Amino acid sequence: MAVANPGAMDETAMRYCIERKRDGHALSATDWDAIVDGFMEGRIDEAQTAALFMACVWRGMTFEEAHALTDAVVRSGESISFDRSKGIVVDKHSSGGVGDIVSLAAVPLAAACGARVAKLSGRALGHTGGTIDKLEAIPGFNAALSLDAFVRQVESIGCAIAAQTQALVPADKRIYNLRDRTGTVPAMGLIAASIVSKKIACVAPAIVFDVKTGPASFTPQPDQARELARWLVEICKRFGRKAVAFVSDMHQPLGRTVGTGIEMVEARDLLCHGELVEGPAEVLSLSKGGREASETRGERALDLILKIVAALLDASEITGGEERAAQALRDGTGYAKLVEMLEAQGASRGALEGMELDAQPLTVKASHAGFIHAIDVVNLGNAGRRLSQHDKLGGLFVNAQIGDRVEAGQGLARVYGKEKEHARNLEASFKIDDKPADRPPLIYDVVSS
Ligand code: URA
Repeated sequence: MAVANPGAMDETAMRYCIERKRDGHALSATDWDAIVDGFMEGRIDEAQTAALFMACVWRGMTFEEAHALTDAVVRSGESISFDRSKGIVVDKHSSGGVGDIVSLAAVPLAAACGARVAKLSGRALGHTGGTIDKLEAIPGFNAALSLDAFVRQVESIGCAIAAQTQALVPADKRIYNLRDRTGTVPAMGLIAASIVSKKIACVAPAIVFDVKTGPASFTPQPDQARELARWLVEICKRFGRKAVAFVSDMHQPLGRTVGTGIEMVEARDLLCHGELVEGPAEVLSLSKGGREASETRGERALDLILKIVAALLDASEITGGEERAAQALRDGTGYAKLVEMLEAQGASRGALEGMELDAQPLTVKASHAGFIHAIDVVNLGNAGRRLSQHDKLGGLFVNAQIGDRVEAGQGLARVYGKEKEHARNLEASFKIDDKPADRPPLIYDVVSS
């Protein structure tokens, strides 16, 4: 039974929708519209809505359904618009990862190269980190910008990172909360609608997505991630937006750190010192407590950051790509833009530079020699989140990566923060075997419209 008009969605009509989805049928755009409307207006309750979502997890959704749900969710709230005459506004979104410092560095770097970047970010979800939590670890930082203030800041300094507000896509906020509580997050159509609705409401004409793949992501298999990437790009196209989606690795933390403030420190050091190689970047803070021989592990994060900045510049019709991004890193203009953005949002340079890690971290050591075959990145993500709950600078510095050779007793990770004693048994998160192991690729695919 397709529902004729949105007002008609009540308990009985919703039961038919649930049964149709349970039996593997697609719902119509009118149905999805009525469901979102009925849920937001309280005509259908959480139990029925969660049952429908669980049927979506098991039976899947068609692309048309994902598009229809996106449209319905966008229409549940306000939209932001920017002055197009001042240039293209671009946006960037990750599907969620561990040790993912890309937004913290890429947004100011792209703005330093002349792009206008408007980024609404989320908080931690499960084991994955949230950009807003990382920024809020800087004393004074204000993520709660009004929509007007957000637009004004992008137009005056070229970038802003703010928390999702209640005014924008309120249906996504409520639906996401319900999915989080009912184990119904991992459905491709629901994920695509949730991600794209936020981007469409933000009215940036060009969007760069970073879809993670690996055990710590919502799309563990590369083919699932490719499919999600295609859906994100195609739904954006239906709304008249240009999009490009990277499919990137999440078999291990992307950067070297896992937590909230500690990731901000990593992004700060990267922008401040130009690159994460042995030398000054280590000295500032991350080297406290002793440095292991293999600690030049920022390359993967840096590589992805430069590629994402290049995509943001390309979407902004600014030439120069990765080389221009690297130049903004080397000449300090990326760091200056980060400081400018933080100052516009209430945090001072002193507050950023005063973030210091615990001088006596615990070291997680390898019990035997061999090669790192796998890293339990979900466990590390959960540990980083726990460590940063009572100490914003608590978290992990991960020394080892998949493919590395380690010796018995070598440090695999350092644990920082007030709760570090509770994170002693992290050695089991690193699977060490005698035979050499391949390093996973950083980028599996790039999908564009
Ligand atoms: N990120 C989102 O914003 N929504 C999802 O459903 C999953 C990841």
